[in-house]
Amino acid sequence: MALIVQKYGGTSVGSPERIKNVAKRIARWHARGHQLVVVVSAMSGETNRLIALAREVQSLPDPRELDVMVSTGEQVTIGLLAMALKDIGLKALSYTGAQVKIVTDSAYTKARILKIDEQRMRADLNDGCVVVVAGFQGVDEHGSITTLGRGGSDTTGVALAAALKADECQIYTDVDGVYTTDPRIVPEARRLKTITFEEMLEMASLGSKVLQTRSVEFAGKYKVRLRVLSSFDESDDDEGTLITFEEDENMEQAIISGIAFSRDEAKITILGVPDRPGIAYQILGPVGDANVDVDMIVQNVGHDGLTDFSFTVHRNDYQKTLKTLEPVIKHIQARGIVSGDKIAKVSVVGVGMRSHAGIASTAFRTLAEEGINIEMISTSEIKISVVIDEKYTELAVRVLHKAFNLDQAS
Ligand code: ASP
Ligand code: MG
Repeated sequence: MALIVQKYGGTSVGSPERIKNVAKRIARWHARGHQLVVVVSAMSGETNRLIALAREVQSLPDPRELDVMVSTGEQVTIGLLAMALKDIGLKALSYTGAQVKIVTDSAYTKARILKIDEQRMRADLNDGCVVVVAGFQGVDEHGSITTLGRGGSDTTGVALAAALKADECQIYTDVDGVYTTDPRIVPEARRLKTITFEEMLEMASLGSKVLQTRSVEFAGKYKVRLRVLSSFDESDDDEGTLITFEEDENMEQAIISGIAFSRDEAKITILGVPDRPGIAYQILGPVGDANVDVDMIVQNVGHDGLTDFSFTVHRNDYQKTLKTLEPVIKHIQARGIVSGDKIAKVSVVGVGMRSHAGIASTAFRTLAEEGINIEMISTSEIKISVVIDEKYTELAVRVLHKAFNLDQAS
């Protein structure tokens, strides 16, 4: 007997029929003697609908009140799923985040989980009950409802698995696992049987949409065994993709696991910046104070006391960043600013980079052969990212996927 946390995403609970199907799958797992805690998202499209509705009333919705209403999407699905489970003869109980007591900080719309009271869930499980919990939501210390950021139900699932020390957290979604890249762009993309937690973290934060980045961080921190599966596959034997911890991994790893890409960034270059101590801080300090995360940063050697300073930010923060920089540019007497949001970031990810030379040169040669200009480069131990013109995104992903033989079964 195992304790399993299952999380079902919006499309998996997108209609009454699908909710009944989810209930049947849960019943099969339950019949094998497992204890189950099930986290659900809102029905697909519902969260977007609620956010749009809020904006019709207040153009920049008050974050506390937005969380009160946006969290209702998940409250609907827990009720429906618990009904479907009872209807086929299972014992089930649904709980909102506040009822469980998933305590978060008060950062409305992007709250972080601080602690989870698992006693009530534990008692229900021992009673033979399936526990159904609303994803994406919690409660702060004042009793206000909070939400965990878009895609946050993944984090609820992983956090509950950590709190309950579950044997496994299964994320059921509309794809059947993690692929070497987006199969819509590269039909030859392969599903990975395993991917290391570090690679998954890079893939998620570099643009792969399979798991919310924060849920992967959580899984790494608390060593949660995490698996991505399809809720549309009728068999219960499919193993999807398992996120592994490198130390348990004794098979020979592929050198490169995947190609990620993101069209969510914008690039800003400040020209003719005086090359003196403190200048990076004078530029990026105000950007950080405006709550904007900076991604890649490039500064070259100076010439005649001047240098150019480039960085990227999320596209949603682009206009705000330009505004923030206006007075800064005057103050530091830079020569000017050029910027654009028609860029894409394409990344090659793999733990094998640590022990294999030549990965970067293969990537750069491959892009050169297609005449794709690289505008910025950044690397870590296990990834190489380049910024290129947005119009070459698909081409770059395709040729890199091929160059690293990702279309061939390993
Ligand atoms: N319903 C929320 C969203 O759409 C949370 C989730 O689905 O994970 O972002
Ligand atoms: Mg999701």
